Amino acid sequence: MEFILTHHTRNPFQAFIDLRRDIHRHPELAFAEYRTSALVAEKLRSWGYGVTTGLGGTGVVGQLVRGTSGKRLGLRADMDALPIHEATGADWSSCHHGVMHACGHDGHTAMLLAAAQRLAEDGGFDGTLNLIFQPAEEGGGGALKMMEDGLFEQFPCDAIFAMHNMPGHPQGQLIFRAGPMMASSDYATITLHGVGGHGAMPHRATDPVVAAASVIMALQTVVSRNTDPLQPAVVTVGAVHAGQANNVIPATAQLELSVRALDPQVRVLLQQRIRSLVHSQAESFGVRADIDWRSGYAVLVNSASETAQALAVAQAHFGSDQVVPDGPMLTGSEDFAFMLEKVPGSYLLIGNGSGQEPGACMVHNPAYDFNDDNIAVGAAYWVALTRSLLS
Ligand SMILES: [Zn+2]
Ligand SMILES: [Zn+2]
Repeated sequence: MEFILTHHTRNPFQAFIDLRRDIHRHPELAFAEYRTSALVAEKLRSWGYGVTTGLGGTGVVGQLVRGTSGKRLGLRADMDALPIHEATGADWSSCHHGVMHACGHDGHTAMLLAAAQRLAEDGGFDGTLNLIFQPAEEGGGGALKMMEDGLFEQFPCDAIFAMHNMPGHPQGQLIFRAGPMMASSDYATITLHGVGGHGAMPHRATDPVVAAASVIMALQTVVSRNTDPLQPAVVTVGAVHAGQANNVIPATAQLELSVRALDPQVRVLLQQRIRSLVHSQAESFGVRADIDWRSGYAVLVNSASETAQALAVAQAHFGSDQVVPDGPMLTGSEDFAFMLEKVPGSYLLIGNGSGQEPGACMVHNPAYDFNDDNIAVGAAYWVALTRSLLS
């Protein structure tokens, strides 16, 4: 008992560390964040927020209006977990087999809730605060689903911000970057239709396997010959499917592509060049190509002025030593990119721990865990940003 008391006095954020671990223990996959979203809604209501549920399925928005200024700010956290079986051995390990919070969205939710409580109790801002808790960041495009359900029509924002933890950076370090920060991710299935036949009589068939081999090699020239050498781009053929037996020429061959860019124009160019190369290669071998192109997340682009404001708040509040003003670009993707296409704003990273610090294990690893020391840092940052932008 005494231990618990001491613990509570030492860390005013203990209630939110407990909450984070509770969410961690009950992880939920994309669009199934029922318990998490109910918990978020209940907390926000208890602090006096106007709460709207059901946006994009399980999305929640908490709104708090103070003062008379017409300014409107949006802060976003994500709530979904991943289909990974947890191996942290923590007391608060997942109780759902094969599902875990391996990307720290439990922590993002707890940080924003901690800020929500502080801002409701102590105020210190003048304007409309919209707290956006989204489902399905991990590939499901929950941000887009909330927007399709009228997120920014119901809750207009002048600027929006989101924060993601990042292992490999010292705990609590805040990392900013103006301009493109995370890659677009698109997917394509290419099916080459030939004419099947006997492996001993290739002249009586039209071989899609040879055409596929040529397409794969031709695709290597898109990044090396067509895109600007100073612009990052990735074209990966991650799967090749064709044939069953050495003496059978199959009728079809299929390729699965992953395509990434860090500039919206490069993204368009990649698709144009891939389509053109595939069709002309196929034609040269007498086979027909079908391309099933699936657009994933957009390039995440942080607007210059909102990023400068967000950076200035971090430097003023935490000091320059804890802040990286020009962080790296990442080839990962993030659906907050869709929100940033509609509303200016910025996405920042918070270091989860590096070297021997807890939290250094990479996200999406079964041994990863969110660093609870970041709840105080992240919440303090959200409070400071709100008071600075809504003043
Ligand atoms: Zn993730
Ligand atoms: Zn994540």
